[in-house]
Amino acid sequence: MALVTGASRGIGRAIALRLARPAAAGGQGRHVVLCARSEGPLKEVESQVRDQGGSASVVAIDIADGAALAGGIEGIVERHGRLDVLVANAGITRDGLLLRMSDEDWHAVLATNLTSAFVAVRAAARAMMRGRFGRIVALSSTSGLVGNAGQANYAASKAGLAGLIKTAARELGSKGITANVVAPGFVQTDMTEHLPEEVKSRVQGMLSVPRLGTPEDIAAAVAYLTSDEAGYITGQVVTVDGGMTMS
Ligand code: NAP
Repeated sequence: MALVTGASRGIGRAIALRLARPAAAGGQGRHVVLCARSEGPLKEVESQVRDQGGSASVVAIDIADGAALAGGIEGIVERHGRLDVLVANAGITRDGLLLRMSDEDWHAVLATNLTSAFVAVRAAARAMMRGRFGRIVALSSTSGLVGNAGQANYAASKAGLAGLIKTAARELGSKGITANVVAPGFVQTDMTEHLPEEVKSRVQGMLSVPRLGTPEDIAAAVAYLTSDEAGYITGQVVTVDGGMTMS
């Protein structure tokens, strides 16, 4: 059983579809609980999962509300009796130059992108420890690795995920639980759709694989890290960016 936050569109939807797809069709055949703020779009993803022969259910939670998120995860674990996979994917941007960034925009991004991951990992780890198995993946960003002008809040939240997840990996490894970060580069979703064409072509010029990323590119990496066979990979930041950044 897997929980994917931010599963109503973009990268989260692609991850949910991939994990729920039957194993015979290249997926993991997991029941996937789809989480986002509003139920309508999640229901559409739920029916896409069913169309491909998988099983899913939906839960509407604002993950910036820590108490609601913790309670929601406890409810999911009670209903399903287990939690094997957590994909902390939901995230937002509120871009602006550092000197003009408001406290409100800072706190909103940190609450949604970083504090929610802490709350979710803590709640999920309790259930995973009981099952002595778990796969945790958090979605970071290359902005969190190398910074990005106009994204002080976002980059800080995404860099923070690496510290959180590496610590989780160290604390939970002996319980059969792995924890990793996937850091996408530029992926074509609603989050990046509004960016000017000039920005998109500048990014494209920085890529070794000369195309913008797709949600499915990211879902493939998450699928591997959440698979049974990835049990010896933990505490890693896996960059999926077409070669935009290289360390
Ligand atoms: P997206 O298309 O904007 O989708 C964001 C998802 O998160 C939606 O399902 C949204 O659903 C959900 N969400 C947002 N705020 C939420 C909240 N408070 N509570 C619950 N759910 C919430 O984003 P994306 O491009 O797929 O990005 C997914 C993840 O990858 C994010 O963490 C993002 O930072 C990261 N990432 C994206 C890119 C990129 O180029 N697209 C690059 C690097 C990293 P509702 O609005 O219905 O709640």
